[in-house]
Amino acid sequence: MTSIAENLARVRQRIVLAARQCGRDVAEITLLAVSKTKPAQAIREAHACGQRQFGESYVQEALAKQAALADLDIEWHFIGPIQSNKSRAIAEHFHWVHSVEREKIARRLSDQRPAHLPPLNICLQVNISGEASKSGARPEELDDLVAAVKEMPRLRLRGLMAIPQPAADETEARRPFHAMAVLQAQLAAAHGLALDTLSMGMSGDLEAAIAEGATVVRVGSDIFGARDKAV
Ligand SMILES: *Cc1c(COP(=O)(O)O)cnc(C)c1O
Repeated sequence: MTSIAENLARVRQRIVLAARQCGRDVAEITLLAVSKTKPAQAIREAHACGQRQFGESYVQEALAKQAALADLDIEWHFIGPIQSNKSRAIAEHFHWVHSVEREKIARRLSDQRPAHLPPLNICLQVNISGEASKSGARPEELDDLVAAVKEMPRLRLRGLMAIPQPAADETEARRPFHAMAVLQAQLAAAHGLALDTLSMGMSGDLEAAIAEGATVVRVGSDIFGARDKAV
């Protein structure tokens, strides 16, 4: 078993190498440590190594960990499916939400974002591989979704997020990430928006995502070890 500190150092090194490989400034790329299903103590260990951004997928689990870690300066990102009855807790307890895919949920998050907090940072999740069962808005739905979300006063639209289908090799892995970058540029131009966030790439494909312009890579198992539950 390697430690979280060693794993984190290795992932950071992969990000440095991937950025260098394509001539990007590594400072443009944020590592989001995905701590779903992992105990608060694991987050504490990663925090002690300088990690500040953490991603969670389950609201109740996240709230319990946030309470246990209230002494730490952590930026919390919600990356899981959003049920309507959980939107208020998300609006109140997170800095970022990567998984907005419907106008109705966006509206609830904006309405429920407390007035004393800054606007909630939002990414729109895109079903970029076109799988019937996967979450995310279809690319052709994004124009309307962006038009609606950009008018919501308590949300700050930052960009797009995707979880593409697993690919056989890096060339194949880059295709959906490239499509994401193209979509993002089109939407920014069409709506006059400065979108600065492309949330894409995980443990298995972060190099391909960085090569195509990822600004946030979401890494779970390569930092914290394999998850016990099938999630
Ligand atoms: C679990 C999860 C990750 C992390 O996946 P790993 O393969 O463990 O790195 C990234 N993004 C989302 C949305 C997730 O649910």
